[in-house]
Amino acid sequence: MRRRRIGLAGHEWRIVEIADVAARARELGHEDVRRKDVLDGFCSYEEREIAIASSLRPRRKAATLFHEMLHAVAPELDEHVVRRVEDALGRVLWRQGWRPLKERGEGIL
Ligand SMILES: [Zn+2]
Repeated sequence: MRRRRIGLAGHEWRIVEIADVAARARELGHEDVRRKDVLDGFCSYEEREIAIASSLRPRRKAATLFHEMLHAVAPELDEHVVRRVEDALGRVLWRQGWRPLKERGEGIL
């Protein structure tokens, strides 16, 4: 598991890149996530952790991190709003060269 810490909305969050995001969600106490679920990403407010699937291609990984960061900073937003913002702004950020998960030695951000 690769991990990194970032500051988000006044709190420190752990970003982990991991093979099985659903298993990690269950480890963190989210028993509503089923064993057969396959998740690209997950945001745990209680643990202040964002998990991203390590198998994702770079563009999908960046979009997923952006999506989960939106959940982290605005938990009141509905999933469909988060997806809309992710789709619109994630696309622009990618075109502008945003590559948050590009590996640089020890970290993922
Ligand atoms: Zn979501």
